[in-house]
Amino acid sequence: MPKRLLIIYTGGTIGMKQTAHGLAPAPDLAAEITQLIEMGPSFQKNPPVLHTLSYEPLIDSSDMTPAVWLKIATDIEQRYDNYDGFVVLHGTDTLAYTSSALCYFIRRQGKPVVLTGAQLPFGFPRSDARSNLISAIEVAATMPAAMAQVCVVFGSKIMRGNRVTKVSANAYDAFDSPRCAPLGSIGIDIHFQGARRTVHEQSDPLPTLALPPDNAVVLLRLYPGISAQLLRAVCADTVTRAVVLEAYGSGNAPSRCPDFLNEVKSVVERGIVVLVVSQPLDGVVSFGRYAAGSSLAGAGAISGRDLTTEAAVTKLYYLLACGCASSEIANKLRHHVSA
Ligand code: ASP
Repeated sequence: MPKRLLIIYTGGTIGMKQTAHGLAPAPDLAAEITQLIEMGPSFQKNPPVLHTLSYEPLIDSSDMTPAVWLKIATDIEQRYDNYDGFVVLHGTDTLAYTSSALCYFIRRQGKPVVLTGAQLPFGFPRSDARSNLISAIEVAATMPAAMAQVCVVFGSKIMRGNRVTKVSANAYDAFDSPRCAPLGSIGIDIHFQGARRTVHEQSDPLPTLALPPDNAVVLLRLYPGISAQLLRAVCADTVTRAVVLEAYGSGNAPSRCPDFLNEVKSVVERGIVVLVVSQPLDGVVSFGRYAAGSSLAGAGAISGRDLTTEAAVTKLYYLLACGCASSEIANKLRHHVSA
């Protein structure tokens, strides 16, 4: 039986055309996909049956919003039983946010959901669009069942959806997942590297998702000189429910700045979740390693361990969309639920 795959086209460089104002999304990718599949030597043996769903409007992914994450997840969940896998075509700028979001927002598990995009549009000489699309389709059609999960296929790598980050605006290997071993590699052959998928907690019945306001989650990066006032100002909005704090190294923050730590404490006491991630690409939060990290823990902040910024932000949106109270969110984060 040929595999049945649904390709969801959301926009992004992969299908863009040159306009007077620069590259902009173009609607005619479905025809190119059909042509590509008909010509594609890779699929001569057992070609999958492909259907496409093109979004309206198609967007540059810099216009992505949490509402569109939910739409993609809902579109996939509603068609889950009709397909063996899904491919999502997406702009590279915020692809890592969407792939992270889909890891949490798609509550059905066991089928591959593969995100890809391109550094250059289809029609351009030396474009990576064709190879990335063909690789994504092949991965969606052949990923071992025990590994089937949300992942990103780009250039030569297959990466876990909620550990991937964009590392280059120029290279064809635009993404990496330095905090998590790749799920596989793409060369002449496609190799899967055996990491089983993380099985996410499922409550029964699944809660209806209701997105919080877009600014319910805020992101703040530490830098030398950061002030308590800045944190206070960032959390002053009454809709703010959670802060992702990008700290140094293993989760360190200024420890000789009692004002800043007191402000973290006061924010936490007001019921705002403070989730700490690490700034370096391969950083993992380990509060106990330095006294400067222990101080954040002492103020009530939660370790995001190996979560990327993208995963931390989207996981918080998901938990808020489930209707979780702050204490419940803190509890789930502390116990690594749905990592
Ligand atoms: N601005 C584009 C987007 O994210 C960049 C890309 O796709 O590579 O949609």
